[in-house]
Amino acid sequence: MAYSAAFRCLTGCAGSYPLTQPLYRCPTCGGLLDVAHDVDALRDRSPATWMKLFDERYKRTVWPYGSGVWGKREWVAPEVPDEAIVSMDEGGSNLFWADRYGRTLGLDDVWVKLCGNSHTGSFKDLGMTVLVSVVNKAIREGLEVRAIACASTGDTSASLAAYGAAAGLPVVVLLPRGKVSTAQLVQPIASGALVLSLDTDFDGCMAIVQRLSADGVVYLANSMNALRLEGQKTVAIEIVQQFDWTLPDWVILPSGNLGNAYALYAGFKMLKDLGLTTRFPRLCVAQAARANPLFKAWSEGRSEVVPMKAGETLASAIQIGNPVSAPRAMLALKAMDGVAEEVTEDELCDAAARADRTGMYTCPHTAVALAALEKLVKKGLVEKRQRVVVVSTANGLKFTEFKVKYHERALADVTSRLANPPVELPPDYDRVLAALDRHAAQTGKR
Ligand SMILES: *Cc1c(COP(=O)(O)O)cnc(C)c1O
Ligand SMILES: [Zn+2]
Repeated sequence: MAYSAAFRCLTGCAGSYPLTQPLYRCPTCGGLLDVAHDVDALRDRSPATWMKLFDERYKRTVWPYGSGVWGKREWVAPEVPDEAIVSMDEGGSNLFWADRYGRTLGLDDVWVKLCGNSHTGSFKDLGMTVLVSVVNKAIREGLEVRAIACASTGDTSASLAAYGAAAGLPVVVLLPRGKVSTAQLVQPIASGALVLSLDTDFDGCMAIVQRLSADGVVYLANSMNALRLEGQKTVAIEIVQQFDWTLPDWVILPSGNLGNAYALYAGFKMLKDLGLTTRFPRLCVAQAARANPLFKAWSEGRSEVVPMKAGETLASAIQIGNPVSAPRAMLALKAMDGVAEEVTEDELCDAAARADRTGMYTCPHTAVALAALEKLVKKGLVEKRQRVVVVSTANGLKFTEFKVKYHERALADVTSRLANPPVELPPDYDRVLAALDRHAAQTGKR
């Protein structure tokens, strides 16, 4: 295969470096790296030929092409051979028309991309399969890696631990104690990773793992490592593919460390560069108001994001005050005529509960995106007939505590308007019938 990709400086310093090199920053300026593809080589296939190839592979069982990521391998990590690939059939997640929810906002064409319907229950799998596969290739070529490590708000660690286990590679995860859900905590435990639970927040864990990787003790799997974003960018490609190779008008994304915002942009850019599309959708980066450094910068017209101490938010996976990929996200916002939005705890809970009442089972981060969408509608930025995709980043089943506390009315600063606690009754036919009648009277329907 003549296709190739290499690390390059995001801001344009000279030099390119093999993807198998453990490299997390530009050696010249210390800034972020990007994965640059030989786009001219990829032009050897026409747009129609790429579409046909990707469609033929999509969700089939010819390994590794059934994976939503490796089905696009030429655009992702073209030089990783079959035998190094560590895939668990990630991606290919459902994109559904949220008809009833959309109508409650006066919109005709709202879709939800359920990235949480993936191997470990979040979109992190898309990036992790690429990172672990490239490390696996590097190890086969002689790289010595004591462990692959990450700091995490719960989903990166679950994913890294699973893919590391699948590859038989040692994994270390650093978690902020008490700030991840029970499901997220137990995932890397079950996979056999070394789980370090630190009495700090995500930013505190990140500072330590960055130092470990800079000292060469571990290989860094956080999204500062550009390899993750190469896998994650397939979400953009897959959305367009699922719409029969047409673009939506808006993409709304809940964001914390801001890597995924850039990954989406990178996916849409590749589609455009290779002639499969002709423009960009608009991007909305949605943040929790208590962890909103990008929103602050954007709304004040600054391109520099000033780190803050993130406050406690139910959207724990985006409780990040010092986002590593801030410069990347700024590029994405600029190129995609993007906007930033922030939502309060009450707003996200309300959006989650109303979405759940239309049949979704929304994680708190997806709820941040849904609440942001409502704000964009109120501001007149999103219009009735526009096609909107809300990216659902994790599976709601990982966030049972959030759901339980909402329905128990036990969340601080939140009015549980749609609390629906179970009715406890003795096993008595008449009492059950009376409960049905009472419910019908209260809800006004049968
Ligand atoms: C990681 C994560 C995010 C944020 O992604 P970033 O790339 O850090 O902005 C959002 N939601 C969920 C559920 C996540 O796990
Ligand atoms: Zn540089």
